[in-house]
Amino acid sequence: MAQIPDSVIEEILAKADIESVVGKYVSFTKRTGQNLFGLCPFHSEKTPSFSVSLNKGIYHCFGCGKGGNSIGFIMEIEKLTYPEAIRFLGEQYGVEVPVTSGGDNNGSEKKMKERVYALLTEAARFFYASFVGDVGKVARDYAAKRNLSKDTLRAFGIGYAPEGWDNLYQHLINKGYTDEEMRVSGLFTVSKKTGKLIDLFRGRLMFPIFDSFGKIIAFGGRSLGDEMPKYVNSPDSLVYKKQEHLYGLNFAKKAKSNQLIIVEGYMDTIAMHQAGITNAVASLGTAFTDSQLRLASRYAEEVVFFFDSDKAGQNAAIRAIRMMLKFLKKMSGLKIRIKIAYVPDGKDPDEYIRNNGKDSFATVVANAKDVDDYLFERAYNDNCDEDGKLDQYKYQDDIILYGSWIQDELRREKMATNAAVYLGANYKTVLNRMNEVMNSAIAEQAAADKRDLIRSEKDTVRQRVEENEGDEPVTQDVVADVRKTNSDIVYLQELKLFVLAVRLKELLATDVDREDVLRPGDFRGENMKKIIEFFLKNFDERYGINEALLINELSKTTLNGMPAEEVYLRACDQFNDSNNSDVRRDEYLMTVYDLRLKQIDGMERMIVKYLEAATGAKKDDLLLRYRKLNAYREHLIAKRDKL
Ligand SMILES: [Zn+2]
Repeated sequence: MAQIPDSVIEEILAKADIESVVGKYVSFTKRTGQNLFGLCPFHSEKTPSFSVSLNKGIYHCFGCGKGGNSIGFIMEIEKLTYPEAIRFLGEQYGVEVPVTSGGDNNGSEKKMKERVYALLTEAARFFYASFVGDVGKVARDYAAKRNLSKDTLRAFGIGYAPEGWDNLYQHLINKGYTDEEMRVSGLFTVSKKTGKLIDLFRGRLMFPIFDSFGKIIAFGGRSLGDEMPKYVNSPDSLVYKKQEHLYGLNFAKKAKSNQLIIVEGYMDTIAMHQAGITNAVASLGTAFTDSQLRLASRYAEEVVFFFDSDKAGQNAAIRAIRMMLKFLKKMSGLKIRIKIAYVPDGKDPDEYIRNNGKDSFATVVANAKDVDDYLFERAYNDNCDEDGKLDQYKYQDDIILYGSWIQDELRREKMATNAAVYLGANYKTVLNRMNEVMNSAIAEQAAADKRDLIRSEKDTVRQRVEENEGDEPVTQDVVADVRKTNSDIVYLQELKLFVLAVRLKELLATDVDREDVLRPGDFRGENMKKIIEFFLKNFDERYGINEALLINELSKTTLNGMPAEEVYLRACDQFNDSNNSDVRRDEYLMTVYDLRLKQIDGMERMIVKYLEAATGAKKDDLLLRYRKLNAYREHLIAKRDKL
């Protein structure tokens, strides 16, 4: 299996310098020497804990703990695999990445993907042949009714899926595709009656959906009459995630415009392209997503949205704007200007172009409003009655909320200043309120992010417990013959607990229940137990431990066969620090509870084993211990779940 050569990876790491890679997503607010700081794109925060080290070529977040090099950053933020991230950077930085059969991806999955791409292209051929053949008359008539020109039909690869249950299926079987390949292609569904694969698209006008490079990845099908549903779309599949693509982008990017016009569906996009507005794209049967906004930002500096003018359309507009502004706040380095356009008389863009022509539509686009101006007007218009009387209370709620979404301070201040006139208030008071709402929203989001983080941490801890199952060392005097462990052994989670405890400093005494303070019994190795004894003995309730003293002590002993001092310093690098003391304390507590719970599991397993052979008083004693352990477990779980 061919791998991407190291020389290519080295070239990419040399060219794709960490500052420019990360800078596309994060705007740096502080620079000290070789370090840059900004708001973390992976978790919500008010003060920057995300840093980039220029000389090391890495990023690191002290808040959520994410870190790595340029390639790792792209994997994390673009949700790509390692070879995909290399390809992604190669394209951006002009490094040729040879096509490999496997990369570190699973080779068979890669092969399957190639088969599915080929299958989709074959399906498009089949639909196109049906469209131009005898069976396609009904579809051609429909296309003519919609004024779609021959050139347009060809350019967009429009086809027809004939009536019948298995036309495409039979065609692909004859071309040598297997049931399994068809199953994952998204073009088939399973018959409830027979359990066999049947065509998903029947009697529909077919739109191939392309990725931004022009590869067919899915299809949309429109009914030709009144059958419902009007549109059927391929489900997400091995090669297609609808939230991550924009319909028509492969064509629109050729327009080399710095602007993308976002419309509702396939037909709108196609009609606009036919009318000469070639920078139009559509989201694919979903509300516009943040992945789509990021995708758009790679090709344009500005996106112009059209929303329906009815109530539902206007509500959708607010939801989409809120989502996008929230996303842009996190991705502070992502520069894209959002504009909202209205089609006069509440018409579709498509309809408007047909009636008024391309030039007049260009004026509509040119009159699109910046998103903050749009919100400002919305707050006013939504809260005015027919006589033009403003409901100041409702207006106040809306405008403060909208202001809190605006990332740019100047634009926020401008909104506050203008709103202050309607509210008869001082702009500073209005601005303060906007800032308050903004900050509490960030705090709320940060709490939610932290819960996610802790949940994923819990999962990895559980995984480790499961992995370790069977050789759980037992400590303390619960069972008479404690299994012997190497005296200098230390487990990763134990190290983590120790590092976190040292970092808590005096908070370990003031902010943590006495019973939750670490103790020698939490550690399995003798050397580690002695280190903990030293730590507790020298712990100062006002300052924590003197780290120089601690390191001096560590230098006298070993852990896992290495100098303990080195093990400790490495662990300090590995377990990230938050600058928020609550986060640090909770992380510490999470670790101590999980570690103790894991120990309880081990002891209980041991007791169960001994119980089999035990009788009389010995048995009662074991049972009593078992019950005590159980009670302690409940107690720990209750505490952990409160975090
Ligand atoms: Zn972070």
